[in-house]
Amino acid sequence: MVSSYKIVNHQYDVLVIGAGGSGLRATLGCAELGLKTACITKVYPTRSHTVAAQGGIGAALGNMGDDNWEWHMYDTVKGSDWLGDQDAIEYLTSNAPQAVIELEHYGMPFTRTAEGKIYQRPFGGHIKQKGEGDPAMRACAAADRTGHALLHTLFQQSLKHKVNFFVEYFVIDLLKDNEGKCCGVIAWCLEDGSLHVFQSHITIIATGGYGKTFYSSTSAHICTGDGNAMALRSGLPLSDMEFIQFHPTGLYGIGVLITEGARGEGGYLTNKYGDKFMENYAPRVKDLASRDVVSRAITIEVNKGRGCGEEQDHVLLHLEHIDSQILHKRLPGVIEHAKIFTDIDASNQPIPVIPTVHYNMGGIPTNYRTEVLSPSINDKEKIYEGLLAIGEAACVSVHGANRLGTNSLIDLVVFGKRASITAKEKIKSYKSYSKIEKDYIDKIISRFDNLRNSKGENKVGKIRLKMQKIMQKHCGVFRNKETLSKGIEKINDVFDMFNDVSITDKSTIFNTDLVEALELDNLIAQSKVTLASAINRNESRGAHAREDFPNRDDDKWLVHSLTWLREDGNTEFNTRPVHLNTLTNHTQSIPPKKRVY
Ligand SMILES: Cc1cc2nc3c(=O)[nH]c(=O)nc-3n(C[C@H](O)[C@H](O)[C@H](O)COP(=O)(O)OP(=O)(O)OC[C@H]3O[C@@H](n4cnc5c(N)ncnc54)[C@H](O)[C@@H]3O)c2cc1C
Repeated sequence: MVSSYKIVNHQYDVLVIGAGGSGLRATLGCAELGLKTACITKVYPTRSHTVAAQGGIGAALGNMGDDNWEWHMYDTVKGSDWLGDQDAIEYLTSNAPQAVIELEHYGMPFTRTAEGKIYQRPFGGHIKQKGEGDPAMRACAAADRTGHALLHTLFQQSLKHKVNFFVEYFVIDLLKDNEGKCCGVIAWCLEDGSLHVFQSHITIIATGGYGKTFYSSTSAHICTGDGNAMALRSGLPLSDMEFIQFHPTGLYGIGVLITEGARGEGGYLTNKYGDKFMENYAPRVKDLASRDVVSRAITIEVNKGRGCGEEQDHVLLHLEHIDSQILHKRLPGVIEHAKIFTDIDASNQPIPVIPTVHYNMGGIPTNYRTEVLSPSINDKEKIYEGLLAIGEAACVSVHGANRLGTNSLIDLVVFGKRASITAKEKIKSYKSYSKIEKDYIDKIISRFDNLRNSKGENKVGKIRLKMQKIMQKHCGVFRNKETLSKGIEKINDVFDMFNDVSITDKSTIFNTDLVEALELDNLIAQSKVTLASAINRNESRGAHAREDFPNRDDDKWLVHSLTWLREDGNTEFNTRPVHLNTLTNHTQSIPPKKRVY
């Protein structure tokens, strides 16, 4: 019964949902600007997935050779296969050096060069002289634990600013006022079972990606894209959801990531004949081509029967030729993961790897100011008031059809900070808190209550596994109309299965069964939207490789896709123009051309 829940009320200038790198950077920014801020998170902040980021954070500092932000911009636009918005990419890359220096001043323990500068390594797709030169040393790194160092630094700074943290509070849904403006959230305190209405002038979604829609993924168990699903339930579309990044080097059979930094330090891939096959796919930069290119190359090698092992279903990553001391100093995590998960000593033996789901380029559409868009037929740039989105949950879009390695961590801090600036600017015009209709709150609580009291046939784990296997099989590195249509049919069955879910634990205190059911509901919504976007885009671009439409089609498809999910489970599709213009006249836009490495 809805009326049986105890509700606690709160009011803040700004709510940040999520305490990963983006959420903490926004929280810290808001606190520094004097805004009354609360950060709500379903896990302890330093357990957010950002902690797992390994290889580095991209910024053209030029500490280890020539570099400048316009080369970084060029690489990002090319990496995105021209689907990234160039105004936002200019904002990202031109602000990146300052954002990294800021982290250094906050106390982030970067690895250092002999002169004491921040150490930088090469990464896939980052090249000097607008794609014409050698690989650029651009990835600022703290050994191979960059995300760990970043997250702890930002958390400690937030504590210094006495931010209000609500830890182990699960946000269920966004609140809307009568004018359709976002005005806060409803959250469930996992520790004592109480429900909380948080009112705010500005809500910032920083809930991360939804890698757990897939069976094999480098994401943490908590990466369920809850914020994306909340946006869908609020009637907002998600953008570019067909672009799922497969990381070329997931540990075979386990899915744990082996950072691209390993190839940055000189590692290379071979097939069963010992051929360094990347020479055939990217003759110039070889193993340092961008991720979509390397993932497709591995998949083709395996499909052509040139894979390694008994089942010929993976390839090998070699690090044995690298000086063991350097290996232990620069890639200690890789050595450790290979040992723990496969009992391989990477300084003597190659590591078996396979492409694994790693990142979601798509998400909640925003402009470079991080304002969430609610595009309509007449106004494709229409702003949804009261709501901002950042980090992997957002589609700004700086990554377009394919993200370059190290560009997520920099996206988190540049746009995390930007969200705090936008919040400060917007709040000036908001005087009082909006009134929220009781019916609206009751509707959200009743969804929660119905789920909690479900007495169906299907366990959460069983439905989740089914969904993950379908996504893996029908929405993989290569897709076509037939596999995608089957995937859609099967996901509709999963949608029906969820209507008959069984929750055995009925309590409200640390009810992990119910948490996972709420997360699964969110994942299913995103699976539907991902498949619908993928079947609509009749071309191949970046991470979206259609066997039946093998070429990029700029005439028809140089547009962002938008997909809505209606309450009856049906999807609706539309598009929005890509911003090919720059933000300022400090640089020039980069017209589309063929993407070769
Ligand atoms: C293994 C791995 C290695 C990577 N390495 C790199 C790298 O070297 N360089 C790079 O640039 N990128 C890397 N990436 C990508 C990058 O780390 C992520 O894209 C990024 O960290 C996501 O940060 P985020 O702030 O968006 O969200 P996350 O760090 O995922 O945090 C999400 C937050 O939202 C909260 N949350 C979610 N749902 C709810 C809810 N319902 N209620 C309350 N709170 C909620 C969670 O508690 C958490 O605090 C890597 C990713 C992985 C998986």
